[in-house]
Amino acid sequence: MGDPAGPKVLKPWTPDEPRDRGRTVYLWDVPELPELEAHAERLDQRYAGASLQRFTPLTFTALKTATPPAAAAEGHALVFVSRRGKYLLLDFGELTFVVHLMQGGRLREEAAGKQPAKPKNGIARWTFADGRSLLLTEAGTERRAGVWAIAGDPETQPPLDGLGPDADTVDPAQVLKLLHEHPMRLHGWLRDQHVLAGLGRRLANEVCHRARLSPFASTAKLTADDAAAIVEAIHACVNESLAYERGRDDMSSSADRPGSVHHREGEACPVCGDTVRAVEYRSYTVAYCPTCQTSGKVLADNTTSKFLK
Ligand SMILES: [Zn+2]
Repeated sequence: MGDPAGPKVLKPWTPDEPRDRGRTVYLWDVPELPELEAHAERLDQRYAGASLQRFTPLTFTALKTATPPAAAAEGHALVFVSRRGKYLLLDFGELTFVVHLMQGGRLREEAAGKQPAKPKNGIARWTFADGRSLLLTEAGTERRAGVWAIAGDPETQPPLDGLGPDADTVDPAQVLKLLHEHPMRLHGWLRDQHVLAGLGRRLANEVCHRARLSPFASTAKLTADDAAAIVEAIHACVNESLAYERGRDDMSSSADRPGSVHHREGEACPVCGDTVRAVEYRSYTVAYCPTCQTSGKVLADNTTSKFLK
């Protein structure tokens, strides 16, 4: 590793690259509410009405449910594609497929006639009667992306039943209540899918910055004004990303997504010009602007502190 006080080298991560276990920090993020919302809209526009010929799990762990049989959707038209939290829903009437991409997962379109039996990183495939198909892939070795086949209302069954309300649907009063009901650090609170659904590491960083609140603020101590600022920040950040994603033909890779502080450590804050700082954890980084968010205080970098011990 380099000089711990110096700027860290950030390297863009692409889904085809193996995950680095060493010191390099990769720009590697879960698709969050805006990316999934725009992708659901895109797939809905292109596939709604198409009849499912076959659903094929390509790994032993792809399908997370034993009943009902996924084949129950075969012969049915795709009614619509939607999103809930960080999940995509493919509704075939009889049965809904709930898909979670995790970090390296993608739900991609395959051209007719270009559907290898064992596609690289393939997890599951939906083949339509018109010859097209959708392929769920997952890069890396974690194999955590998956599909749930659900009969009836998916909202009342796993994996969606434990989710909090979608982050872009709550008002300041609800947020204040949730802040006080779930006392923790604000950054963790924003990422907790049982409290609010749809936000991940990137938007947690961006929302804290936009709301001018410390990511380490204790949610139990936040006020009605803070709750209003959080709601405004969620809407601003989600809308900014949604606009960006809707202008694309496919889901963005994490390095392309807009933002002010996330993965911008060492750069100037676009609001005040101060240097963006980061506190690094094993699997994620909290990025913030001291002037905008912590009254100028620079918080200890976990990794550096450990290194100095
Ligand atoms: Zn700033």
